[in-house]
Amino acid sequence: MQLIETVAAMEEARFRLRGAVGLVPTMGALHEGHLSLVRRARAGCDHAVASVFVNPAQFGPGEDLETYPRDFERDLRLLEAEGVDLVFAPSRDEMYPPGFDEWVEVAGPLTSRLEGESRPRFFRGVTTVVARLFRVVRPQRAYFGEKDAQQLRVVRAMARQERLPVEVIGLPTVREPDGLAMSSRNAYLSPEERAAALVVPRALDLAREMIERDGVRDAEAVREAVRQLVAGEPLARLDYVSVADDETLAELETVDRPALVLLATWVGSTRLIDNSRVVPVAARVSR
Ligand code: AMP
Repeated sequence: MQLIETVAAMEEARFRLRGAVGLVPTMGALHEGHLSLVRRARAGCDHAVASVFVNPAQFGPGEDLETYPRDFERDLRLLEAEGVDLVFAPSRDEMYPPGFDEWVEVAGPLTSRLEGESRPRFFRGVTTVVARLFRVVRPQRAYFGEKDAQQLRVVRAMARQERLPVEVIGLPTVREPDGLAMSSRNAYLSPEERAAALVVPRALDLAREMIERDGVRDAEAVREAVRQLVAGEPLARLDYVSVADDETLAELETVDRPALVLLATWVGSTRLIDNSRVVPVAARVSR
């Protein structure tokens, strides 16, 4: 496995790769969720490239850029064990040279709602850094987690908008045995908060049961049930709950098609996001 720290060296190494290249962009502090993406890249491409870069542009003022968990040596060991060919770990100056002004933005409702509303600069930071990674690494395929469902859809829209010839592949959320979605930020949780965080997967289960088992079609009834459940957990505070069209993430009034239930919840001072795809009874293909 080769460690590459500059854009010039990455471009040179890419030039020498033959066949399909799969890219897995990460911010490090790797867990099984990241590794599931790496395994798919390995299996589906001739070469797997992982990037490790804590992207300052996607953090807002007062967010956790400085405290974001970092363990680069461990990340390298994990990536090596997975058979990754190249690790691209640039410095801030490599990704954002002095005078940098090539922001890549996707406009419209896909980026303005949900995470975009709670974190105004977030998607501009994500699309800018991912576009730059796509231009430098030139992957045929790039792998992202459904855990960050809105981000996945925004990255797809960005690749289309920028005419970048890459297939953006979304893979399922990897969870802890008790249902909590794996996240680098789970490391911030105290034992009490870790227990309280289970309200997130429980709320998603509740929404799924209402829609898929009980046939509830009133999206507001589902959102309200989630609000009530989260309100019952003293350490948790709901940021948003959404029942949205699976593709456009437009808010639904009636759950009459495959939908995503998306949640952002504060647990103590840690913000957790999660989501679940639900298919209403009537929208299932009858055989
Ligand atoms: P991050 O390092 O948090 O920026 O995440 C890097 C990539 O890993 C993104 O595409 C995430 O969606 C994905 N990811 C993060 N957590 C999970 C998870 N629990 N399961 C699957 N993919 C994940």
